[in-house]
Amino acid sequence: MQTILETLRISSTNHGISTGLAAWEGRGEELSSFSPVDGQLIGKVHAASREDYDTVIGQAQEAFKTWRLVPAPKRGDIVRQMGEQLRKYKTELGTLVSYEMGKSLQEGLGEVQEMIDICDFAVGLSRQLYGLTMHSERPSHRMYEQWHPLGIVGIISAFNFPVAVWSWNSMLAWVCGDVCVWKPSEKTPLTAVACQNIIQEVLKTNDVPEGVSGLIIGGREVGEWLSHDERVPLVSATGSTRMGKSVGQAVGGRLGRSLLELGGNNAIIISQHADLPLAIPAIVFGAVGTAGQRCTSTRRLIIHESIYEDVKQRLVKAYGQLRIGNPLDSNIHVGPLIDTLAVKNYQSAVDEVRIAGGTFVVEPGVLTGADFASGCYVQPCVAEVENHWPIVQHETFAPILYLIKYSTLDEAIALQNGVPQGLSSAIFTLNVRESELFLSQAGSDCGIANVNIGTSGAEIGGAFGGEKETGGGRESGSDAWRAYMRRQTNTINYGTTLPLAQGIKFEI
Ligand code: NAD
Repeated sequence: MQTILETLRISSTNHGISTGLAAWEGRGEELSSFSPVDGQLIGKVHAASREDYDTVIGQAQEAFKTWRLVPAPKRGDIVRQMGEQLRKYKTELGTLVSYEMGKSLQEGLGEVQEMIDICDFAVGLSRQLYGLTMHSERPSHRMYEQWHPLGIVGIISAFNFPVAVWSWNSMLAWVCGDVCVWKPSEKTPLTAVACQNIIQEVLKTNDVPEGVSGLIIGGREVGEWLSHDERVPLVSATGSTRMGKSVGQAVGGRLGRSLLELGGNNAIIISQHADLPLAIPAIVFGAVGTAGQRCTSTRRLIIHESIYEDVKQRLVKAYGQLRIGNPLDSNIHVGPLIDTLAVKNYQSAVDEVRIAGGTFVVEPGVLTGADFASGCYVQPCVAEVENHWPIVQHETFAPILYLIKYSTLDEAIALQNGVPQGLSSAIFTLNVRESELFLSQAGSDCGIANVNIGTSGAEIGGAFGGEKETGGGRESGSDAWRAYMRRQTNTINYGTTLPLAQGIKFEI
């Protein structure tokens, strides 16, 4: 790990604020990053003080004046080079993601691959920031719309995708001509420092102002500075619904824009027409992958009554084969939770399930012993519950899967939609009427609805995000780029008279 840290230029004490290679010492509190894998201290970071924060924002404002004038395809070329740098450092960065966050090495590397993919997507996008042209109702007039950059995009990210979420936002924002200021999760600061080190090399080589990419490390308070800051026209915030409500109110209070990517409570419907050998691995990966710490993790399974017992027995068998332990070991299926607070939240949820009358068919538990010294390892568990219980309505960020029975598809869809969140959903069925109903306007109310694949994980080509308490934001592919730009409608008169719209006459 020491060699990896050195390659990524992470020292035992790091600079938590930076707009460039010449990073300086933050004057805020010192944050220690401990690995949930083995409880070891990886490094320390100095958080940003208010004064540091203002310096970073000031540099971003200055950088925007230059960056917005660089032609979009040239900005795309800089992002292309960032993708190349990420390819170069993929193994090291992926390993650090895995060690600092606790996800499997495959997922850590996959997260960096997602960053590379979004770079490629953004490069193409840099030549496709299209506006429409319209026909004017007035003679010798032309109308069209164009998209201009917004300015500073504030990015607040969560611990569970410590680097990919930043790249989804920043790579698009950069080709759009914006500059970015990133406040990563205080639980994964070192991966953020590593990313900043990697891309600042590209900015420096191309003589791009370092303020194009700002980093401010700190906790909730630093995030609040961003959401209240009128110099930041767009705040993209990924995290809990509690955080999103607070950011949404603060940004809305100053009539700024927010892009919110918040919690999910994702369900899979298992119809009597499901291909179960296809469904079972999708369910298990969705529920226990990343130790249940994905916003798209499968939390509820809504199973047709005729196959309920069969599905339950198959799951019990599959859970019996799970290997829990060091996520850097490729034989392991389930790594740790992020910290001991997350373990406490898991235990409280388990208690609440029992108090409500739930039955565990795969028992929960906190793992102890030399292999689990960090105290962050828990047993993925499965419980029979009712959908309306408060604990089932709530997102617990841990590998707890709830089983719910249904009789008709309408009832299943009502159960699937009957939670405050609306991120990801899926149905397993080979019946085309069922799958089409599920995808129709009378079907799933989520931002993501899948057929015969699980809820977890998404490709960067689609717009990612969800409805209701998930916040309504969309990031990544499709036309999500529009959130990072402002639309301007232009009318040009190339004639010799001045006709007014709607035939109004005004003579002087
Ligand atoms: P969190 O809400 O505790 O923290 C997320 C980020 O918000 C951190 O950087 C934190 O410092 C900051 N923050 C917290 N309170 C704030 C406030 N009042 N103002 C400004 N910033 C504030 O979330 P977490 O525990 O890091 O991540 C897990 C949550 O994130 C889950 O709910 C998960 O579903 C969600 N998530 C959603 C998506 C998505 O795309 N929808 C993706 C990843 C994670």
